[in-house]
Amino acid sequence: MLDRAHNSPDLPPEIARRRTFAIISHPDAGKTTLTEKFLLYGGAIQMAGQVRAKGEARRSRSDFMQMEKDRGISVSASAMSFEFGNYWFNLVDTPGHSDFSEDTYRTLTAVDAAIMVIDGAKGVESQTQKLFEVCRLRDLPILTFCNKMDRESRDTFDIIDEIQENLAIDVTPASWPIGMGREFLGAYDMLHNRLELMDRADRNKKAESIKIDGLDDPKIADHIPADLLEKLREEVEMARELLPAFNRQAFLDGTLTPIWFGSAINSFGVQELMTGIGDYGPEPQVRPAQERQISPDETKVSGFVFKVQANMDPKHRDRVAFVRLCAGHFKRGMKLTHVRSKKPMAISNPVLFLANDRELAEDAWAGDIIGIPNHGQLRIGDGLTEGEELHFSGIPSFAPELLQSVRATDPMKAKHLEKALTQFAEEGASKLFKPTIGSGWIVGVVGQLQFEVLASRIELEYGIPVRFEPTQFTSARWLSGPQAKVDAFVKANKGHIAEDHDGDPVYMTRLQWDIDRVERDYPEIKLTATKEMM
Ligand code: GDP
Repeated sequence: MLDRAHNSPDLPPEIARRRTFAIISHPDAGKTTLTEKFLLYGGAIQMAGQVRAKGEARRSRSDFMQMEKDRGISVSASAMSFEFGNYWFNLVDTPGHSDFSEDTYRTLTAVDAAIMVIDGAKGVESQTQKLFEVCRLRDLPILTFCNKMDRESRDTFDIIDEIQENLAIDVTPASWPIGMGREFLGAYDMLHNRLELMDRADRNKKAESIKIDGLDDPKIADHIPADLLEKLREEVEMARELLPAFNRQAFLDGTLTPIWFGSAINSFGVQELMTGIGDYGPEPQVRPAQERQISPDETKVSGFVFKVQANMDPKHRDRVAFVRLCAGHFKRGMKLTHVRSKKPMAISNPVLFLANDRELAEDAWAGDIIGIPNHGQLRIGDGLTEGEELHFSGIPSFAPELLQSVRATDPMKAKHLEKALTQFAEEGASKLFKPTIGSGWIVGVVGQLQFEVLASRIELEYGIPVRFEPTQFTSARWLSGPQAKVDAFVKANKGHIAEDHDGDPVYMTRLQWDIDRVERDYPEIKLTATKEMM
């Protein structure tokens, strides 16, 4: 889909040093822990553990919901930026639970690469597999981190085989583990010919790195007991024979993933992984729009909204649109054209999400993720440019598969409920339908858990306790076609019609038979299960 060869060989240095990526994993594999260590080494936080820190401070970071803490899932995506060596990293967080796949899909449109974290004892789990497939659709380069090597884990070859077979991607070991579980000592860095030894005493300490001259270097015996050393030599020899060597182009094409073995909680293997992202890239990539491809080295600024988040700071009822900059050098105060409304927008308070705080972004470059506070003008899929009409493609919208009606348990609060529901619909968290007959609202989502998250957010952010209940409808279809025909159809089918949060008409039913009938009796009307985001 993306033309990776199209990138200019000499991107401006500020763009070339940017790395924008996401972490995908099955819940519990260690994504949060790894994120903390990234921030620690990125100098963004003083001590690991702060990503999880309780209270208000936590809200500006990757996780900020009560429910998340209670249930141990990550339900909202946000971005964090930090420096590591010469590189500037933009890490976009993805929700881990499958019910939030819609959000995740969109997030993955904003990154250039993904890190796949797997648990060394569990291998490729269901959610890893699903998310991997999304990355595959976009040919995203993938780096793999096999975590929890300090615990009893599976045989190294088994893990690699499983990835190769289940995910149909070649795997090349960037490091090779030495021992496992209690005996885990560290890893042999196969790309730099070094021994990396883990310090169990200090979990935040950098691993000790020992330069060696191949695995026959007698120096190794000072660090590794004879039996483990013999095993290491045998395995590395076999790995070199059986597994592909690292090849940057294959990695960038998404057909080869380098794997590092480590222990996030012990900070082990994390820096090697970060160095890998830095050294092998990719740098910001060309992005597709309906009109043409956008190259990051274009001088004119352009970008698109991939996420809208409301109420990040409960003290200020604000709404932040997360924008992936695709080209150019953005400066604070710039006037950009909001392509959907064709109106100019002065971007005077753009924010960068530096791990422990948000900060005004004085400038930003292609590849960066900036947050733009706004009052609802910016929607998912919207483009911002210096005047050109560009429609960024590939931002998915999903059919709401589950419908429920919602009401405030306190009827006095019904009016405010509408505001909350509209807000979440605009955020892209759910779909909202207002039936033309009767009162009340119907909410559509992709996964059951989203109802619970919504109920919890509506209570937390708006102070309105709500109840979700079954409704008579199970399907929603957007209507399009000649205006007069749509109007006539709407008039004749009032009992089945609702409006979405934009006021567009939607046909609601519980029978596929009804949908077939409409298609047969009203050939000029098109029914669609999703609504275009642009
Ligand atoms: P997430 O759900 O993927 O974000 O996973 P977390 O980072 O919250 O980790 C899940 C659990 O695994 C937590 O209890 C972590 O402390 C633990 N954990 C993370 N990394 C390691 C590791 O390298 N070794 C061990 N033994 N436990 C780890």
